[in-house]
Amino acid sequence: MTSSPALPITEDLRARARTSLERIGVSVPEGTDFQARTPITGEDLFGLTAATEADTEEAVTATREAFLTWRTTPAPRRGELVRRLGELLRENKSDLADLITIEAGKIRSEALGEVQEMIDICDFAVGLSRQLYGRTIASERPGHRLSETWHPLGVVGIISAFNFPAAVWSWNTAVALACGDTVIWKPSELTPLISLACDRLLARAAEETGAPRDVHRLLLGDRTIGEKLVDDPRVALISATGSTRMGREVGPRVAARFGRTLLELGGNNAAVVAPSADLDLAVQGIVFAAAGTAGQRCTTLRRLIVHRDIADTLVARLTAAYAKLPIGDPFDEHTLVGPLISAKALDAMQDAVTRAQAQGGKILVGGDRRLADAAPRAAYVEPVIVRVEDQTDVVREETFAPILYVLTYDTLEEAIALHNDVPQGLSSSIFTRDQQEAELFLSAEGSDCGIANVNIGTSGAEIGGAFGGEKETGGGRESGSDAWRAYMRSATNTINYSGRLALAQNVSFL
Ligand code: NAD
Repeated sequence: MTSSPALPITEDLRARARTSLERIGVSVPEGTDFQARTPITGEDLFGLTAATEADTEEAVTATREAFLTWRTTPAPRRGELVRRLGELLRENKSDLADLITIEAGKIRSEALGEVQEMIDICDFAVGLSRQLYGRTIASERPGHRLSETWHPLGVVGIISAFNFPAAVWSWNTAVALACGDTVIWKPSELTPLISLACDRLLARAAEETGAPRDVHRLLLGDRTIGEKLVDDPRVALISATGSTRMGREVGPRVAARFGRTLLELGGNNAAVVAPSADLDLAVQGIVFAAAGTAGQRCTTLRRLIVHRDIADTLVARLTAAYAKLPIGDPFDEHTLVGPLISAKALDAMQDAVTRAQAQGGKILVGGDRRLADAAPRAAYVEPVIVRVEDQTDVVREETFAPILYVLTYDTLEEAIALHNDVPQGLSSSIFTRDQQEAELFLSAEGSDCGIANVNIGTSGAEIGGAFGGEKETGGGRESGSDAWRAYMRSATNTINYSGRLALAQNVSFL
């Protein structure tokens, strides 16, 4: 694996972030409560002011107030706000991508891809604003009409993770706004600058389209702000993206007040590689899914389940591809693997690899720290492949770093059993040219994940499909398809135009 010859210095990154923020029109709330950092050098950029308890209270009151107007604004007009937001995202794509690279460490093409995803969901939500269809249902009574209508839900609280610091916000916000909801966003404390930029662009879109300013509020700070939203009965839906640990805390607290949750939590995604697989395609798909984004996607490929007959060949090709991965400055166009988000993430990775070795695993390639002299506070590391005999406890956990565990199988039934034998259920794939195998993998007896792919890796979903996973991934669905229903409430209406009262199920009374 090769490393970039040099890394940018923090001062230059700070200036670059400031320029992008200025161009977008953000005035940074500088302060001393917490630091915006860059994983590129592991150093601080700006001190920031966090939202207080009073700010949180005020934001809930204001967004609740704005909801009362917004819910009565015709949906296609609500779509105009989202359309303008999409235009502003297009105009500011490069600056937004810069902020994502600076704060989350994503390589430039992936950061641009993240902004593109935001633009795409805006386009989707604009269309949706003219398609919030209900249904008419056959009534069992003569002279009656039965129908289902959909209404705006209320204030949506978005709690988001560092690794998709802007796209996850947009999936929720574009759809929620089109559905007539207002939004409060508590982003990751690790990515405040890109959040400020998104909030500013949405505020501009609201000003320009005449929407209430308080359709959206941003609250910077740590989990305590999130906890306030979680416990506030005026927040109708908590859409929380992050670790399963976080979801385990958030889910029951919102349920205790009968609020709604949409949970998008950790994944432990696997790909099955069958003997008939096109190995050129499989190698490309596997390396992007496992090492891309430095292993910091919820859909990152973490387990490879390979047929015994092709395991040695495939592993040899993967180790050769890994050995050539350029690691380093995510702004350098040749880099494919940027930094991990923090030193803590590197410790967690090293700890997992050590445990895997203690449980019988063997490192095949990678795992060494990189660029420690150039950036002692940053966390650059070689993506690692570890061959394991069994799915031991460390393999069954999500370690948010580029570790790929390789297991072998003899029968497809065995592969599917191994595949599903983890607590998480986000994304999955099979590489095969055998249609029976592909169909079995996608069937009810196959993958138990929310996303199941054929001949493509586990990561890189399109916004048109619903996104989310089962089991400890939380069960939520976001983004496309009919995920919008989570942001609305339905009402079933019975209209009697018969002139006489007929009770359902032929009940007679009076
Ligand atoms: P994290 O759980 O540490 O934090 C996520 C967010 O939750 C942050 O904003 C944090 O402040 C907040 N938070 C934490 N505890 C909270 C609590 N008790 N109450 C309210 N808010 C709380 O996650 P992270 O390290 O930022 O992100 C990585 C994790 O996110 C991985 O597990 C990854 O798989 C997951 N993720 C999932 C998806 C998905 O769609 N399934 C997408 C992106 C990331």
